[in-house]
Amino acid sequence: MTKYIFVTGGVTSSLGKGIIAASLAKLLQERNYKVTIQKLDPYINIDPGTLNPYEHGECYVTDDGAETDLDLGHYERFLNTPTSQDNNVTTGRIYQTVINKEREGAYLGKTVQVIPHITDEIKRRVVLLAEKYDYDIIIKEIGGTVGDIESLPYLEAIRQLKRELGDNNCICVHLTLIPYLSAAKELKTKPTQHAVKELLQAGIQPDVLICRTEHTLSKELKQKLSLFCNVDYKSVIEAIDADTIYDVPLLMLKEKLDIRVLKKLKLKTSNTPELEAWKAFLWKLKNPSERVRIALIGKYNELPDAYKSIYESFTHSGAHNECKVDVVPIHSQVLENNDPEKYLQDFDGMLVAPGFGERGVEGKIEAIKYARENGIPFFGICLGMQCAVVEFARNVLKLKSAHSTEVKPKAKNPVIHLLPDQENITNMGGTMRLGSYKCKIEKSTIVHKAYSKTEISERHRHRYEFNNAYKKDLIKNGMIISGINPDNELVEIVELEDHPFFVGVQFHPELKSTVEKPHPLFVAFVKAALKYKLSNEKA
Ligand code: GLN
Repeated sequence: MTKYIFVTGGVTSSLGKGIIAASLAKLLQERNYKVTIQKLDPYINIDPGTLNPYEHGECYVTDDGAETDLDLGHYERFLNTPTSQDNNVTTGRIYQTVINKEREGAYLGKTVQVIPHITDEIKRRVVLLAEKYDYDIIIKEIGGTVGDIESLPYLEAIRQLKRELGDNNCICVHLTLIPYLSAAKELKTKPTQHAVKELLQAGIQPDVLICRTEHTLSKELKQKLSLFCNVDYKSVIEAIDADTIYDVPLLMLKEKLDIRVLKKLKLKTSNTPELEAWKAFLWKLKNPSERVRIALIGKYNELPDAYKSIYESFTHSGAHNECKVDVVPIHSQVLENNDPEKYLQDFDGMLVAPGFGERGVEGKIEAIKYARENGIPFFGICLGMQCAVVEFARNVLKLKSAHSTEVKPKAKNPVIHLLPDQENITNMGGTMRLGSYKCKIEKSTIVHKAYSKTEISERHRHRYEFNNAYKKDLIKNGMIISGINPDNELVEIVELEDHPFFVGVQFHPELKSTVEKPHPLFVAFVKAALKYKLSNEKA
């Protein structure tokens, strides 16, 4: 029978529930349990696909094409196993299902209510994962903070499940904050006491308390928390601020979080996690022998979460190369009508980021021209690849009016355009090319060397595509088409000859980089940046 661990948050948001959930999952996975994580988001959007990245950070896409919360990225990066549509549930989706059923007459004339209809649908989605796949343990992260109006139906569903399945099969891990008052030089437990009261009011007694803190918790303080929150002493776990998110599994191992949880679930605690690959990665991450500077050219730079997976991919590939990667965000708009050299000359490589809409596109094109002409390693992702094609068409093929029809719908030379099946779409949610598609790799190219494979599968999230009408001319002038979708002939990867590293990809490689499997293209890009830096130092 599948066992459930609910992770709730108290006191404030941003305590790192996703990282705690992923770290716990990692420890359980190392103990040979089959485990996954599901994120339950209390917002009313159907999925985060239509959310502005400023609102909610990056939208993470799964193999089956679900647009999901960025925490799913952490789950995949930590566990090295893919997630799916079923791993992310939102209040919007819950209500949509219930309302559709109501319209179909499924409730036989009954009044449809939050309890039991909404809570029943939450419970159905919670156990659906267990029914479809054969997991030993599923961790459920509840978005938001206890006390939010939106989370109430989720808490009620947990209460019911705990009662129906029994305390040995369903536990609640509550993550809270122990603030430090510097004037009083004291850690304070009161906010946590209140947060736990809030949970108790919803009928849930937390089984484990994880306390986020800047300072070590004394024995007395833990005893106080144990007494007031009614949690046994050993289950009051300290989560001290860590240098990186990747330290957290080891900190939780030291705190025996996995043992506490397994004991409560009446599961075996033999074979202590070794985490050898993880520790090797961490060692490399913390002891780099080289350093490179990469410009991240995008437009959502104020919020690093908007490019979460890109930053993490650099962390993985940097460690792999034993090289610290300093990623410096540069707003593409500042490059417009400005000398790009002024901003870009000190970098060892540049990544032009994915994105939507017109703002900053010309700046991206300027940056790419500079990288192409000066032999600086360049990596373009999605919109970054599309801009690379526009730049090449404009400045090498001399098609001055070349553009993407996303920015200029009536462009005379639409080198990037909409496919007919996308043209009449008016609904914005879930209507892009989404999820994994196959790609055939041309031999003897940069990407072939990086992947060491001729067929790959990568995740997509876009509407516009390379226009095959320009393919011949682009190739004639030195563009290499190194990746093609074998089913529909769409161009997925472009490169340049006579350039140390110039690669544009229509897909999102950053969504598939994990601690144990850094993405080959990021690894190759960092390697190229390092080579570029070292050759400049010699010169
Ligand atoms: N806006 C572009 C498109 O829809 C690129 C999207 C992206 O970068 N994810 O095709």
